[in-house]
Amino acid sequence: MKISNVEINTYKIPLPEPVEAYAAGVMKAFDLVICRIDNDNGKQGIGYITVHENQGLAIASIIKNSFVPLLLDKDPRLIELLWKNMWKDTHYAGRGAPVSFAIAAVDVALWDLKGICLNEPIWRLLGGHDKKVLAYAGNIDLNFSTEKLLLGATKSLNQGFQSIKMRLGRATLSEDLKRLEAMRNHLPDNIMLMADANEAWRVDQAVHAFKEIEKFNLVWLEEPIKPDDFKGYSYLRTLGKIPIAAGENLHILSEFNQLINENGVDFLEPDLTTCGGITPFMKIAKLAEINNLPICSHGVHDLHVHLLASCPNASYLEFHAWNIDEFTENSLRVKNGYTEAPEKPGHGISFDFDKLKNFLID
Ligand SMILES: [Mg+2]
Repeated sequence: MKISNVEINTYKIPLPEPVEAYAAGVMKAFDLVICRIDNDNGKQGIGYITVHENQGLAIASIIKNSFVPLLLDKDPRLIELLWKNMWKDTHYAGRGAPVSFAIAAVDVALWDLKGICLNEPIWRLLGGHDKKVLAYAGNIDLNFSTEKLLLGATKSLNQGFQSIKMRLGRATLSEDLKRLEAMRNHLPDNIMLMADANEAWRVDQAVHAFKEIEKFNLVWLEEPIKPDDFKGYSYLRTLGKIPIAAGENLHILSEFNQLINENGVDFLEPDLTTCGGITPFMKIAKLAEINNLPICSHGVHDLHVHLLASCPNASYLEFHAWNIDEFTENSLRVKNGYTEAPEKPGHGISFDFDKLKNFLID
């Protein structure tokens, strides 16, 4: 089997309304990069990544310029070999994002193609554990009024979620505390709450925040400080007050290894688009398993559902606010807090390319 064609397209997808998180600021749209890989038997695998607005074209050009020549005429079944070649080819300017995003788009297309050729969904190809996956609503709402914040939570409950995340990192901690209190009072007792500070604090500020936030019984507090301050994470975790989640801003395997070795995290949440695809995500998931940690996910839930459905240590799947439901058939649904990995071969996502055409930028 050989790769006969690779096609890359970039789209700018507007968000229904501007949303804000501390690290990213206000977001009005996101970029979607789709990589289609054909084999010489007429089968096609589709990979994609989502990224902040105006960054998709740079990622697409890495695939076009560096990876297409490495992929054409090669056996698409040898995913580890192709992954290694992409990593090696770009190592000087790479070893992380945006190269990790570019490798991820290719890697997902290769796994999809493998699943389609073998007539198996990715979650069973990766080992197969439980197609039923615990889900939470990863709402992005730092810029919303308290009233709007609570309306968003109600909407998530009506969609079937039983776990909801809200954002922290307003101008003062007392504002954050007021919003947390309003949310906890708004939610029924059986609904779980997470909070994401998106790197808003220094370590000393986080220590103070942890003391004040402890009473809200959060499932976790996510990225309280900068993602690569592993010693800071370690210190905060020794306080033992609130479980810590992190991982979406780590881009290479060794960073996850470092965070785990520093005992800096309770809920590991890699994002396959930021860490180089399904292939490294599964290595991170095994690393977590070895260290008795749960594995969660950030972003691209339509893909991550397969990965968590294959892991015995799976915990929460984030339903990210950047969704592509409008452009796909049979998007994931949530019932009583759970979603289900699809039975279709590969990842099972069918894009409506006619509709996407209106948002094409390259
Ligand atoms: Mg986050």
